Amino acid sequence: MKRTKAVLIIGDGLADRPVPELDGRTPLEAADTPNLDRVAAEGECGQMDPIGPGIRAGSDTSHLALLGYDPFQVYTGRGPFEVLGIGMEVRGGDICFRCNFSTVEGELQLTDGGFTGATIADRRAQRIAEGTHDLAQAVDGMKIEDVTCLVKESVEHRCALILRGPGLGAKVSDIDPHEEGKPPHLALGEDEASKKTARILNQFTLKSWEILKDHPVNTQRLEAGKLPANIIAARGAGLAPHLEPFAQRYGIKGAAVVETGLIAGIARYLEMTIPDVPGATGGADTDELALAQAIIAMLEDHDFVLCNLKAPDLGGHDSQPEPKIKAIEKLDNLVAYVRAHAPAGLHLAVTADHATPISFGDHTGDTVPLAICGPNVRPDSVRSFGERAVVAGGLSRLRGSDIMNILTNLMGTQEKYGA
Ligand code: ZN
Ligand code: ZN
Repeated sequence: MKRTKAVLIIGDGLADRPVPELDGRTPLEAADTPNLDRVAAEGECGQMDPIGPGIRAGSDTSHLALLGYDPFQVYTGRGPFEVLGIGMEVRGGDICFRCNFSTVEGELQLTDGGFTGATIADRRAQRIAEGTHDLAQAVDGMKIEDVTCLVKESVEHRCALILRGPGLGAKVSDIDPHEEGKPPHLALGEDEASKKTARILNQFTLKSWEILKDHPVNTQRLEAGKLPANIIAARGAGLAPHLEPFAQRYGIKGAAVVETGLIAGIARYLEMTIPDVPGATGGADTDELALAQAIIAMLEDHDFVLCNLKAPDLGGHDSQPEPKIKAIEKLDNLVAYVRAHAPAGLHLAVTADHATPISFGDHTGDTVPLAICGPNVRPDSVRSFGERAVVAGGLSRLRGSDIMNILTNLMGTQEKYGA
């Protein structure tokens, strides 16, 4: 059987509910989308439950499902995925924390009963914005027992910590006391593995203060009358799951052309290729043709490319129909470019990771539309790409976790199940 390639394009938060200002149409129904309509008309359509009927999906859990990884099995909380989102390399078994650079006042000491001698004066170190890279560098790579502590700065006062080593658990309480005027909280672990994590984390916290209190960034802050960012306060421990790499699971090479750190993080976890796309801002002003060009470039030596256009979700969260319509028209433009420049025989699927209705301002558990075109599909009677139009399609109603099976079947790359 001849193998073909496939592209899966996801309009983030694309699906919606009828909007009164649009005469009861959805933004997708109201938008001018000749190219999306052509995909629907030439292809096979259906409605999809990204995770399951009525389940309100996050972008992270939904993308896991769309790539065929059951979020109920592998999603261990936001921690590991946020850490991925800021560009840290995460490995299965890592314990990931979200952290703040905070200010403590006093001489911090660690005793068996807890931290004493100092209290948290500002949990966010006056929302420190500069110098956090240098502060993170100063503590990154620290070794405590047989565990390596990896630290990277995020936006403003935020940073992330990974504890990497044998026998660690994630049932650990926070260092961050979540209120000011208190000492850092002593981390406690529930089970043996988590007790080890807690012991390392408490040591790390003390050492972070010892190193950061005299760091030049903080000396300068003190001279300028600002509070020092002299401790790293961790919270939200999460165990990074062991995920089978995409190439191993499907026997094909995958790439992800995406705009947000969160989704890039998932793709990186699955060891997919993630090209840098200049002009992809993740905002309403994003250069959709730069994304389209990156898809075409990736198709040269990959079998499968996932693309996520973030902008439709933003209009939904802001409850603004017009920006959402404009974002959907960008998606249409992106699809036009891909179809015009793709190699012959490509299968193209267009869908959403969840609905972000204008009327709700957040993700809902409604179905999302799906259309797939390409040489091996059986076209149905659907003529336009819309939440309601696709209901008549040949794919009927399916789940996000079905998508990779359907695509690898069309691509001719799937192993036969049985004799
Ligand atoms: Zn999303
Ligand atoms: Zn969203």
